[in-house]
Amino acid sequence: MTFTTRFAPSPTGPLHLGHAYSALRAHDMARAAGGTFLLRIEDIDRSRARPQWEAQIYDDLHWLGLHWPEPVMRQSDRLPVYARTLDALWARGLLYACTCRRRDILDALSAPQEGAVPTGPDGIVYPGTCRPAPGAPRARPEGAALRLDVAAAIAACTGGPVRAARFDWRETGEGQESHAAVTGPELVETVGDIVLARKGMGTSYHLSVVLDDAAQGVTHVVRGQDLAEATRIHVLLQHLLGLPTPVYHHHRLIRDADGKRLAKRDDARAIATYRAEGATPADIRAMVGL
Ligand code: GLU
Repeated sequence: MTFTTRFAPSPTGPLHLGHAYSALRAHDMARAAGGTFLLRIEDIDRSRARPQWEAQIYDDLHWLGLHWPEPVMRQSDRLPVYARTLDALWARGLLYACTCRRRDILDALSAPQEGAVPTGPDGIVYPGTCRPAPGAPRARPEGAALRLDVAAAIAACTGGPVRAARFDWRETGEGQESHAAVTGPELVETVGDIVLARKGMGTSYHLSVVLDDAAQGVTHVVRGQDLAEATRIHVLLQHLLGLPTPVYHHHRLIRDADGKRLAKRDDARAIATYRAEGATPADIRAMVGL
């Protein structure tokens, strides 16, 4: 199997040094393995994605010396694929509609402060307010948020009880070469019934990323450590959907002088800003320690 990896930015702001590091790492690893580096535009959040940021992504990455096969996969072109997958999961009885707002969830947890609530890689672990009783009818209003019944999903993909379930994958990130695993009870406790279709969006980050990695034949996911915790969700979804699990490589994060992780709003660290100031691609590589 040829080493295939990808860089998957969201066009919601300028690429900064952290993105440059991620894209260069993925690209360099693919080159060293004689494999393929792919680009994917993660633009499902239509309220935040902008064509100008997408154009800037292509421009910055080309300037950095990166190349990828065309056409580029764009998630906004794949909504029918996501919808079909959600229909299939619905037909398997593994999804339910959820009308809770954030406030309702906090109230259900009777948590005065967010700090007191159980949280995992997808945020607050949903208390199950809208989850229908087994066998009860499930209504699916148009455009509603759809949650995965995680216990039912674990049972569906292992054919056994949640307490006996265990999912494994390979992690090769810096200093963490290991065989990673998550158990059924850990998934229920730390992930819970996650949203697979956001209200009015028809998909979610987790569903799209798993379907797209499989559709693009990605064998190695190279991305920042900030997404390491989400991997357990992705591995569960891969099992549920009969998709292969790639090898995961979560790399170090590029931080600012105060040790804070860079965010899209850190325009001062935007690649475009360094370019405008006369930096070369070699300067960018040096700045991120490559
Ligand atoms: N689109 C995600 C981001 O910009 C990355 C997704 C991934 O690499 O799995 O943070």
